Amino acid sequence: IVKSDIYYDLNDEDYSQEGLGRNFTGKVVLTTGSSSGIGEGIVKLFSRLGANVVVTGRKANEVQRVAEEAQELSPLKLKPLAIVADVTKSADLNRLISKTIDTYGKLDILVNNAGAGFYGSFRAPDFMTKFDQSVALNLRAYLELTHLAVPYLDETNGTIISISSTSSTLPTPGGLAYEVAKTGVDMMTRTLALELGPRIRVNTINPGLILTNFINHTDPDVIDKVDREVIARTPLKRPGVPLDIARAVVFLASKEASFITAANLVVDGGLVYNAGGLSSP
Ligand code: NDP
Repeated sequence: IVKSDIYYDLNDEDYSQEGLGRNFTGKVVLTTGSSSGIGEGIVKLFSRLGANVVVTGRKANEVQRVAEEAQELSPLKLKPLAIVADVTKSADLNRLISKTIDTYGKLDILVNNAGAGFYGSFRAPDFMTKFDQSVALNLRAYLELTHLAVPYLDETNGTIISISSTSSTLPTPGGLAYEVAKTGVDMMTRTLALELGPRIRVNTINPGLILTNFINHTDPDVIDKVDREVIARTPLKRPGVPLDIARAVVFLASKEASFITAANLVVDGGLVYNAGGLSSP
């Protein structure tokens, strides 16, 4: 056994420490797209577990609302750092990192999450515009922010978790611009895990359908479709909620996951493997 303190921690054999990896007191967590949905769930859970969290998105009022709600959940009522930023702008990404470091002096956990669906027929005249917008938000911004964060994550033996989608493996007509970007996120994770280890662990979560503003989940037609199609095909018989993904992020960031890197963790109630193959005759 190699006992370098970089990649072999003798305390990993100490069973009396089990479960303590879920206490994030003193850790600094930056989650993009945390003004809504999955990202909101992630910052709230980390705040609940004692971390210093950065809340960010483009809508100032939503950033403020989530920051206040996350502070209420914090055991020590730690005030989150609230930053209004557009992740498709390099200057804003630089500001996200520099403000985080100026405020907390370090970064432990980066969660790439800000994203949106870009759907439409490949034959539509505006396909390439949609493709460029999708890649800029769902892939390029992840890579650029990660590139800026790595020098700080090197210092903390930090971790990177990127929110991809089950769409990275499930083709859907009209979904190409989104699916290609999310497939890129999966591969970015695998390659960076090889390149950034042993200091930094890099993983992806692939959510299935989660009730957020990503879909118009207050529209009766959408609710009806979710009820009829998605729940019927989901082995666990419900759509996901942000806390389902937040729990998975916390797991991957915690000491319990200290030997997990380059992984794609599907969190979808089993939907992705229920693609409707023929039943046996
Ligand atoms: P929401 O629409 O609820 O949240 C998206 C978040 O991203 C918001 O905080 C939004 O903030 C932010 N955002 C969007 N564009 C930008 C931008 N240009 N700059 C900065 N922030 C931006 O959706 P979800 O929570 O569902 O989505 C989060 C992630 O989960 C996405 O990557 C999505 O692809 C992925 N996902 C979602 C699934 C689902 O079923 N919900 C399934 C699989 C994956 P603001 O509007 O304030 O800028």
